[in-house]
Amino acid sequence: MNHYICNTCGVQYSDSAHAPESCMICADERQYIHPDGQSWTTLQQLVDSGEYKNKIVQEEEGLYSLTTVPSFAIGQTAYLIQNEGFNLLWDCITYLDEQTEKEIHSLGGIDAIALSHPHYYSTQVEWAEKFGASIYIHENDRQWVTRHSDRIVFWSGDSLELDGGVTLHRLGGHFNGGSVLHWENDVNKQGVLLTGDIIQVVADRRWVSFMYSYPNLIPLPANKVQEMAAKVSVLNFDRLYNAFHRVIKEDAHQSVQKSAKRYIEALEGKFVNISN
Ligand SMILES: [Zn+2]
Ligand SMILES: [Zn+2]
Repeated sequence: MNHYICNTCGVQYSDSAHAPESCMICADERQYIHPDGQSWTTLQQLVDSGEYKNKIVQEEEGLYSLTTVPSFAIGQTAYLIQNEGFNLLWDCITYLDEQTEKEIHSLGGIDAIALSHPHYYSTQVEWAEKFGASIYIHENDRQWVTRHSDRIVFWSGDSLELDGGVTLHRLGGHFNGGSVLHWENDVNKQGVLLTGDIIQVVADRRWVSFMYSYPNLIPLPANKVQEMAAKVSVLNFDRLYNAFHRVIKEDAHQSVQKSAKRYIEALEGKFVNISN
């Protein structure tokens, strides 16, 4: 029996004697099946290959990024937040080895794991079991959990405070349960928003975007983007971290609001002369 991992999205499945026929995350229209076809691996195979390691970097006081090098599957970055004795892993990455475990323990371990959306479920159950953590997933995304565990807590409603000053907010959009993390106890108390793919930092780091599918370039409707922007408008934050190591270092609150406005104007045809 193996817990198979999809090579394209990096998500791990419940144990089975044979690899699953297809990956439901990749078969969904928001993701894609690799042009060379579906293929599988296991965490043990990844570790045994000796090809990968995790890079853990302090981004600011109490906030660390975790990225696998070379990139595996989607190649996202996860973040560890140290919130006054409570450590939270925001999103997750597939690769996990002894060196990573040692480094995370030296930073205080992991008390809870919270996920923005299914593309980053990766090997979340392996991480939860290694560190004795609970996993927080919005109940609207329950159907996308590919490896079941008693450690998974499905939360409901629009927000959930995990610890003082660490709160999940459901924005929806990219996924129905799509959530962001608001951290109020950062070093200068200006507030940090961690967004996964729910709010995406674009190439011009002064702006963000919102999509139903990023690989397939399917936008979200104007009213949904309006609703998402309204939900974060009441939060105090200065910096914003996405899932690809892109950071808005100041005035991130304003960046989200002006980007939502521009996005809606673009959908309404502001930037294109339709009559031509
Ligand atoms: Zn997949
Ligand atoms: Zn995604």
